[in-house]
Amino acid sequence: MTVIGHEWATDLLLNGLARGRVPHAALIVGLPNIGKTTVAFTFAQALNCTGGQPVPCGECISCLKIASGNHPDVRILDAPGQSLKIGEVRDLQRDLSLSPHEGRWRVAVLSDFERATVEAANALLKTLEEPPAQVALVLTATEADVLLPTIVSRCQVLSLRPLSTSVIKDTLISHWDAHPTQADLLATLSNGRLGWAISALGDESLLARRNEHLDNLASLMSKGRVERLAYAADLSRDPALVKEVLALWLGWWRDVLLLASGSHVAITNLDRKAMLHQQSGQVTIRQAQRMVAQLRSTTKNLDQNVNVRLALEVLLLSLPSTAFQ
Ligand SMILES: [Zn+2]
Repeated sequence: MTVIGHEWATDLLLNGLARGRVPHAALIVGLPNIGKTTVAFTFAQALNCTGGQPVPCGECISCLKIASGNHPDVRILDAPGQSLKIGEVRDLQRDLSLSPHEGRWRVAVLSDFERATVEAANALLKTLEEPPAQVALVLTATEADVLLPTIVSRCQVLSLRPLSTSVIKDTLISHWDAHPTQADLLATLSNGRLGWAISALGDESLLARRNEHLDNLASLMSKGRVERLAYAADLSRDPALVKEVLALWLGWWRDVLLLASGSHVAITNLDRKAMLHQQSGQVTIRQAQRMVAQLRSTTKNLDQNVNVRLALEVLLLSLPSTAFQ
């Protein structure tokens, strides 16, 4: 477990430790799979490391237990897609009120804290206001804006930025033995999220899914109204998938626009150059611009409780048609 590209964040947390001023509550924000949990675990390791300086050593029994999720004093509340309920927060609080079993610090990592119900968040507020001695809480979230301001104001907020493509590419090659061509593609597709690139390296289904969504896009452009509306209805049933698909389509249309307008900015979908060139010859620059703008506004509107199915229908019907070209 090595923090890459976000060293400033761990340095900031560990500086406090060196000066005897450990932040009792930190909030780490950033895109999914960007490295929030890795930073949180590194902090937990540093608090309980029994090895030599600099901490965390990464090799002592405490560091190893934390890395493998087996340290009795480090708890992670992590259930993607499920809300975090008040009962879980109360259980955690009972746990945190005891003194550490093995380590010096009890650390609780509450992942994706936007999952917390208002009751759960308010219950946690008590611990944030009066943290027990030797307890550190680390919350993670995609954005700070979606949390209760009372929670955010009691945490030290660390905002992780996407990493550059070259840092991700180099890391995939040096730390994960990736082939340079594959590293190049995954780094470009990752949008700065190293965790995503590492997952995609070990799990071919991630790239397969992306290929399927891009194939669907190409095939829908040659289809009529009925098929497009059926696809919109189908997709609208899975809100998480809608975001994933729209993000991929946006990347695709940005590439089409870049090629259609003869820009020298690097494209994202490196492995599909031929298809991109073909498509950029089939649509006008204006059409590509409209699709980029429309994908952006549809994505933004989804966060504001619009009728998803209707929004997708409008989007699908405005896809340029390649049926008779
Ligand atoms: Zn250690």
